[in-house]
Amino acid sequence: MDADSTAVLVRDVRQTFFSLLGIPSPSLQEGALARYCVARLRELGMTVEVDRAGEEIGADTGNLIAWLPGDTTLPTILLCAHMDTVPSAVEVRPRVDEGGIVHTDKTAVLGADDKAGVAAILAALRQIRRLRPTHGPIQVLLTIAEERGMEGIRRLQPQRLAADFGLCLDSDGPVGTFVVTGMGCVSFRIEYGFRASPADVRQTSAVRTLRQVLVELRRSPAFADVQWEIAQFMGVERDHGLGVQAVGRIRSWSNRQLQAAVRAMRTAFQSLAMRTDSYFILETDVSFPAYDIPAHSMVRERIEQSMRRCGLTPVPMRVTDGSDANWLCGEFGLPVVNLGMGYEHAHSVRERIAISDICDVTRVVLDFVANPPRNPLEGGAWHGQP
Ligand SMILES: [Zn+2]
Repeated sequence: MDADSTAVLVRDVRQTFFSLLGIPSPSLQEGALARYCVARLRELGMTVEVDRAGEEIGADTGNLIAWLPGDTTLPTILLCAHMDTVPSAVEVRPRVDEGGIVHTDKTAVLGADDKAGVAAILAALRQIRRLRPTHGPIQVLLTIAEERGMEGIRRLQPQRLAADFGLCLDSDGPVGTFVVTGMGCVSFRIEYGFRASPADVRQTSAVRTLRQVLVELRRSPAFADVQWEIAQFMGVERDHGLGVQAVGRIRSWSNRQLQAAVRAMRTAFQSLAMRTDSYFILETDVSFPAYDIPAHSMVRERIEQSMRRCGLTPVPMRVTDGSDANWLCGEFGLPVVNLGMGYEHAHSVRERIAISDICDVTRVVLDFVANPPRNPLEGGAWHGQP
C-alpha cells in the first residue's frame, strides 16, 4: 500500500472509530449506531436489510445484513462484527495518548469491543471502493445483543447467510492472532424431588440423591471430555412437595460430547425416577456451540497469507468464551475465523486499543478480500467449497 493510501486509511479508521464511540449502543439499544452504519454502507452502494431479531428480543433494531456485489465466479466473503457494547460503555469520553492508544477517563467502558471491528469493516469497504480491486461478492453482518449471550445472531435466519467463508472481527488478543477453535457451552437446570414421604425427609434425601447422581455422572465416560460447573444448588417448593435444583453449565470442545453429556444426564434421572417415587425436570439450552476450523481449510490458509503479506505473524488460537463466530461456524456451518483486534481489558473502564491495531486489521481485511482464490473450475459456481 503506498503512502497516500496508508494516510487515507489511517485518517478514515480514526474518524470512523471516533464517530462510533460517540454513538452509545448498549445491547438492545443499537438503533442509533445501526442507522449510522446503514448510511455508511448505502454510501458505498451496498444494499442493506435489517432482520426481525430485534423485535423478538425487544431491541430497537435487528441485525444488519449488507451486500456488495462482486465477481460471482469468486467466493463470497462474510465480514462480521457486533454493534452492541456492554451497558457501561455510554457517555464515553475517549482520550488518545501519545502512542496512539485510545482509552476513556475511566468513568465508562470504551466499547472498542466491538466498535473497533465495525470501524475496520467500514474502513476496509471504503478502501475497496477507492482502490477497486477484483473481489467476489461481500456480505456484511453487523449483529445486535452479542454481549447478552449472542441473542442477535441466535435469531438470524440461516438462509440469510450466503457466504462461502468469512471473518469475524471480535476477539481479544493481539492483531495477528485468530480464533480457529471455540469451546461450546450448554446451560442446564435439573430439579429433583420425591413425592411421597415427610417433607423434611424428602428434601434432605433429595439433596443427597441429586448430589450423588451428579457425582456419578461426572465420573462417567460421557463426561470424560466435558467441563462442568454448578453455579447454584437450592431447594424449590412445589405443589406436590419440596425438591432441590442444581443450575450449572457444561463445556466441551466438541458438540457431540455436549450432546452425549446431556443425554447421559437425562438417562440417569429417568432411571432414577423409575426406581423411586420421584420426579425430575431437566432443562438445557445451548449457550453457544463449539466449533473448529481445520488447519488446511481455505479460510485459514488465506487469512494466514493475508497476515503475512501485511507483515504480521499469524497465530491460531483456541478460546473458551463464546462469540458470534460460535454460531456462524458451530450452528450455521459457515467457516469463519475470529480475528484478534488488539483491544485490552474489554468490558472494564481500563479498556484500551491502539489506532494502529485497527488500521492493521483493516489492511488484513482489505488484503483478504482483494486476493481471492481463483476458481479452479472456470465459470463454475464457488459455493460449497470452503
Ligand atoms: Zn465482542
